[in-house]
Amino acid sequence: MKIGVIGGGQLGRMLALAGTPLGMNFAFLDPAPDACAAALGEHLRADYGDQAHLRQLADEVDLVTFEFESVPAETVAFLSQFVPVYPSAEALRIARDRWFEKSMFKDLGVPTPSFADIQSQADLDAAVVSIGLPAVVKTRTLGYDGKGQKVLHSAADVAGTFAELGSVPLLLEGFVSFTGEVSLIAVRARDGETKFYPLVHNTHQSGILHLSIASTDHPLQALAEDYASRVLKQLDYVGVLAFEFFEVDGGLKANEIAPRVHNSGHWTTEGAECSQFENHLRAVAGLPLGSTAKIGESAMLNFIGEVPAVADVLAIDNCHLHHYGKAFKVGRKVGHATVRSHDMATLERQVAKVQALIKA
Ligand code: AMP
Repeated sequence: MKIGVIGGGQLGRMLALAGTPLGMNFAFLDPAPDACAAALGEHLRADYGDQAHLRQLADEVDLVTFEFESVPAETVAFLSQFVPVYPSAEALRIARDRWFEKSMFKDLGVPTPSFADIQSQADLDAAVVSIGLPAVVKTRTLGYDGKGQKVLHSAADVAGTFAELGSVPLLLEGFVSFTGEVSLIAVRARDGETKFYPLVHNTHQSGILHLSIASTDHPLQALAEDYASRVLKQLDYVGVLAFEFFEVDGGLKANEIAPRVHNSGHWTTEGAECSQFENHLRAVAGLPLGSTAKIGESAMLNFIGEVPAVADVLAIDNCHLHHYGKAFKVGRKVGHATVRSHDMATLERQVAKVQALIKA
């Protein structure tokens, strides 16, 4: 089976690493000459709107999937005429726009911060009055890793913010004083069978995920699965869908969804019976889903900007390196490490050892 992937970054690369043992081949459509997934399959180097190359991809592959959500709607619509596309155009339409996403949460009774659509500075001024400060303003589309957003503490922060963020549609959200951030990685098959990985505790630095630790018997697991199930059913979703939640007052508030494999699920490659990457491919290919059970304790640390010396990472017990083969650049995700252990105390010591390499 040949899988077409829109996007050729590290998520595409890890999909191919998981799918190759299943007998799958891969073609990646990505305009970047140095797309790091290209090492694992065919690279169609073209813009996402290039219909000639989209048609070539559709003719070559059995199905198409995505490694990022900001794919133009026309691209998805065009491909869908010729080849099965998972997740669906509708799932991508909702997930790439924070207004549609939060409106869906509200309609489904999934708690989320108070929010307002902002089309002008006047809208922002009015919404700040109704939602109150502090608040967070975010671009409706194309934001990632904390980019395209600003925390508003005072009236002075509000002035000129619409222009500062590019005079594009924005979403204003009430600021959530969360006690923690967790994510739930879910996978849903074509026949509706659904599985969930254990909730993951996430820590961010400068808006970028730094550390993910998989939980055991998290008290909010069932609640998170209930909320996620509503969304998966509503979208008739196929593939992996990641949910990011704020932990607040002993409950959860939904922050956002990502219609793809997710950074906070990278630990599953070594830490779960079947990884998020393999399960995404199983789901879109109509194959039986694999077990989402955790194997011992697991954590994942991102390498941002540069990967430490390979030998130093590998010198840490039960530490697995994932080097994306990308050029090092400040603020760029260039690799990660998964650490595993039988007990949490040992895991925490291993995490500290990796963190020491990052700081060094
Ligand atoms: P996002 O791009 O929406 O995932 O936001 C990036 C990070 O900003 C989140 O992981 C939170 O740490 C923080 N953040 C986003 N929205 C809010 C909010 N409404 N209240 C407090 N912190 C937020």
